[in-house]
Amino acid sequence: MSQLATRYRDVQDRISAAALSSGRQASEVELIVITKTHPTLVVAELADLGHRSFGENRDQEAKPKALELDSLRPDSSFDWHFVGQLQSNKVKSAMSYAKTIHSLDRSSLLKEIAKQLAAGDAQIDCYIELNLTEDLNRGGLDPSMIKQFAESALAVPGLNLLGVMAVAGLDVDPRVDFEKVIRVSRELREIAPDAKALSIGMSADYEVAIELGATHVRIGSAITGPRGNN
Ligand SMILES: *Cc1c(COP(=O)(O)O)cnc(C)c1O
Repeated sequence: MSQLATRYRDVQDRISAAALSSGRQASEVELIVITKTHPTLVVAELADLGHRSFGENRDQEAKPKALELDSLRPDSSFDWHFVGQLQSNKVKSAMSYAKTIHSLDRSSLLKEIAKQLAAGDAQIDCYIELNLTEDLNRGGLDPSMIKQFAESALAVPGLNLLGVMAVAGLDVDPRVDFEKVIRVSRELREIAPDAKALSIGMSADYEVAIELGATHVRIGSAITGPRGNN
């Protein structure tokens, strides 16, 4: 087996073990492999192992990769997830290949998504991204705004609100951050009972995230190996 295949299987095993040891089913956790900075051939190899859900954080990189993968593996279809900060002028492009946007975090972005949905007949799945830090320049919604912002997202036809997404801070216990996400998720479900999904957990902290209820983990380097600066 290639190193990539070995790491992929290892992460899958750890996901299952983490789910089972917290009384959950492995099938309750979806793995999204984050392929940013890696060439399309890496994605194609994962596709050959049976994987279909991939994520990217920059439209300039994601779009050509999604198109190239379609031409390399024309008989398969893939679920692309957009997980990075999204500029309004990239929304149209991102919606052309991504089925899910994990980084809905502000009104201007919501307006642009609504505009694109009104212009065509596409649907889009979205997570509201939360900013867990005090730094307002980081992506993500201020958690105290969740209900107010979710109300406006729920009013957009064609936008399917799945739940909340967050990235745990670098210098904090991920458990503390994820527990905060779960409290915000509970608040969200008071007005959107179906928006139960939790997109939390990356290479460094996915087992803790699964223990706390993650439904979608976004894992890059633990599978693809180290990447250069991005
Ligand atoms: C890069 C990235 C990931 C994956 O990070 P790893 O630590 O490599 O697993 C997950 N989520 C977002 C938003 C990212 O930008």
